[in-house]
Amino acid sequence: MTDLWYKDAVLYELDVKTYQDGNGDGVGDFRGLLQRLPYLAGLGVTCLWLQPFYPSPNKDDGYDVADYYGVDPRLGTLGDFAEFMHHARERGMRVIADLVVNHTSDQHPWFREARKGGHSPYRDYYIWSKDKPRDTKSGITFPPAQDSVWTYDESAEAYYYHQFYDHQPDLNIANPAVREEVCKVMGFWLDLGLSGFRLDAAPFLCGKPMPRAVKCPDVYENLAEFREFLSWRRGDAIFLAEANVPADEVLDYFGPGLQIHMLFSFLRNQYLFLALARGDAEPLVRCLEKLPGHPARGQWANFLRNHDELDLGALSDGERREVYAAFAPEEGMRAYGRGIRRRLAPMLQGDRRRLELAYSLLFSLPGTPMLRSGDEIGMGEDLSRPERLSVRTPMQWSAEENGGFSTAPPEKLIRPVVSGGDYGYQRVNVATQQRDPGSLLNWMARLIHVRKQCPEIGQGEYKLLKSAPPSVFAHRCEWENGAVLVMHNLADKPAAARADLDERAGEYLVELFGDKNGERVSRTREIDIPGYGSRWFRLGGGHWKLPG
Ligand code: MG
Repeated sequence: MTDLWYKDAVLYELDVKTYQDGNGDGVGDFRGLLQRLPYLAGLGVTCLWLQPFYPSPNKDDGYDVADYYGVDPRLGTLGDFAEFMHHARERGMRVIADLVVNHTSDQHPWFREARKGGHSPYRDYYIWSKDKPRDTKSGITFPPAQDSVWTYDESAEAYYYHQFYDHQPDLNIANPAVREEVCKVMGFWLDLGLSGFRLDAAPFLCGKPMPRAVKCPDVYENLAEFREFLSWRRGDAIFLAEANVPADEVLDYFGPGLQIHMLFSFLRNQYLFLALARGDAEPLVRCLEKLPGHPARGQWANFLRNHDELDLGALSDGERREVYAAFAPEEGMRAYGRGIRRRLAPMLQGDRRRLELAYSLLFSLPGTPMLRSGDEIGMGEDLSRPERLSVRTPMQWSAEENGGFSTAPPEKLIRPVVSGGDYGYQRVNVATQQRDPGSLLNWMARLIHVRKQCPEIGQGEYKLLKSAPPSVFAHRCEWENGAVLVMHNLADKPAAARADLDERAGEYLVELFGDKNGERVSRTREIDIPGYGSRWFRLGGGHWKLPG
């Protein structure tokens, strides 16, 4: 059996600096994260995705890297990192990290050297124009916070190109010397134990959307080169690419030249929220049918929310308005003219049934599920923070001061903890939910346990069951000898749907999330699903086992 571990993984995204402060200075660090490893193991997640922890002026929350070979001193030392990696491995957890090589910080030594003049060996590490480019607006990533993609540098006497903010000059990935540097960076962290990388802004690395001053020979060649290096260095390491691209470009990433292991499912994400807004499964079904199948070793990484805005750019204007009306009715809840800067729990008005519905969908959609830290307890956002910082507040561990995140005085915290109201740390925190058997946290741990017993979802083929009423999303996943049937009712009224088991009609259905025994189900048997409810079944009774 091939070891495609990422197909059975449960991913958990966290930012070290807002997770747990271990030395009382107000900033989360690797020492603090180490203390929380037992919690993460208990929750059942199997692979941590660490957001950038490298030295950085932190003008873009660490996505502006000033040194690819270090740890931000506020977060600890390389020694602390190695210690954390050891203990994560001891607990059977893998770790991947952000690889941010579309751009560097303007404080990176490469850029500082490059600014000195045309003779610097680092000049060609970036993209320059002596004359003022005619088009400075195309390709802006963060409107209206950003207003140009070219900025004049007095010292360099030229304009430099930046698809992100002006303090993040784009690396000239077409330069072989830059690609060599990127490979060296990957090799360094792989040797320290990482199982792969989340490729930040992957389409930009291909050079595809740029009105490039420098032409890449083949748009996907760069990524293919990185992919080959990765696999030579560490056979089981993966790329998880952030590529928010249309359906007809998906295979460019999964395809034979690139073979990216996992892609975040941005399209599914958007249509899932449209489906939830309407209480109708049709948008999700439409999206799944539109997406091409991926090759055997490819995989979708499914998510509900992450550390960015919920990007709704692929929806029509009308559809986007529907999602806004349902989940972000006020202008201040939105960002960049395309998305929502809220956490999931407040978007669903804290309705436990709808939260469970959303997470049940996340964990049963074909692919690998990813949780954003804090979502397991239903944390809320802080809309007083600018742009995406609203959803990047510190983890809420307890009802103690600072939510147990840090013992520093509140004014010294890297960012305020959400306090007071329905989502403040006083009401929403890990410690309180751990004591309550009926809490969202304990429900989530159970969901993860159930999901881990269903390799069919991550590894297998799926089939949509079409006979269901409009509010019901039902699908069956099969792998080796096993089969799992999952049904969701996206509306608040109870519904019933036929099991529609084709050649498997007559097999036992064993409820995976309930306490009922199995029953033999015929092709026409109707299954009741409560409003906003879900039902998980294993087909064929209790006799199944992993092959090999
Ligand atoms: Mg600290």
